[in-house]
Amino acid sequence: MTGAFDLLKERSPLEVGGSLTIDLAAVQANYRTLAALVRPSVLAAVVKADAYGLGARAVASKLAEVGCREFFVAHLAEALDLKPTLPSAARIYVLNGLQPGAERACAWHGVIPVLNSIEQARRWAETATGGRLPAALQIDTGMGRLGLSPDELRSLAASFEIMSRLQLELVMSHLACADEEHHSANLAQATAFEQLSALLPAARRSLAASAGAFRGPRFHHQLVRSGVFLLGSAPPWAAIRPLTVARLRARVIQVRSVGPGDGVGYGLTCVFSRAAQLATLGVGYADGWPRALGNRGFALVDGVRLPVVGRISMDSITIDITALVARGDQLRLGDEVELLGDGLKLDEVAEAAGTVSHELLARLGRRFARQYLPSPPDPGATFRKCVA
Ligand SMILES: *Cc1c(COP(=O)(O)O)cnc(C)c1O
Repeated sequence: MTGAFDLLKERSPLEVGGSLTIDLAAVQANYRTLAALVRPSVLAAVVKADAYGLGARAVASKLAEVGCREFFVAHLAEALDLKPTLPSAARIYVLNGLQPGAERACAWHGVIPVLNSIEQARRWAETATGGRLPAALQIDTGMGRLGLSPDELRSLAASFEIMSRLQLELVMSHLACADEEHHSANLAQATAFEQLSALLPAARRSLAASAGAFRGPRFHHQLVRSGVFLLGSAPPWAAIRPLTVARLRARVIQVRSVGPGDGVGYGLTCVFSRAAQLATLGVGYADGWPRALGNRGFALVDGVRLPVVGRISMDSITIDITALVARGDQLRLGDEVELLGDGLKLDEVAEAAGTVSHELLARLGRRFARQYLPSPPDPGATFRKCVA
């Protein structure tokens, strides 16, 4: 959706097994809702991994329209890809840190690395010839994944040589158990963050991602980093619900009848004891539809939940449509059924698949017909107008 090359790749729903609709107005509404909850803290958007597969450029530029000015990605390449689509005042942070050899590119493009070790801080300080370079600093308050340990933090704070060359934009940490309502690690990490960040010079603080935002003002500090809430997911205990952003519909590619004793799918894991009507859909695990949903998931048609029968194949799923047929309805070749949307919520489907909404979204394949609502600014439009 970002140039002539991508326009060529646009697919008609008729040519593929399913269509993915991404509601950017809902992303904007979710941003406004969460921004209001965390105010006066700033709400930043996490758009790593191509905005969890939904399209970082489209999502981030729409968020910029509603006032978002701070964005987090995982890699430098993601930052460079995003930069041209954002207002010049926008800040882009790279969560995975400053990789050796990336210093000059980061500095040149004005990308802010999240420094995760003394060694990274030293290399960034050495890159700042003559002045200071903007930096974020991550403290490990207990997740054990990224960031400076308390000891490292103390020695960094004491290093005038390094600290005098960093313009500290943000001091951050990340919660390991934020989505678990009553986990004691949350308060422990909040306390550790307050104590450890006090060792550093004044700068904005950030602890919470989406789930942490629902834990109250103590977790908000000056900046909250949200990814998945903006895209339609929240823990069951959260005070507010996001609007649905991703809608996935699968096409019916065959309809059939089976009788007692007949089985369906690889391994014949579902064998019928009665007559049944089945429909096979053109979406499978190669599209990111979790194989774990075999004999567990559902499709939705006119409010009727139709269970997945048998295993999920690479390119197809079979559902039992007997309940629909009994109502006098029928499915035909080319009809579309809902796999993800307002009736089958992202969080519910992810849980049934034994995963998190982040993973379900990020794995959704690239071969669906994709539609953005409303459509993002189309760089090809001017050109087409000229030649018309
Ligand atoms: C991915 C990530 C986020 C965003 O998490 P959500 O649960 O999607 O809101 C925030 N901070 C860090 C450090 C992350 O890695």
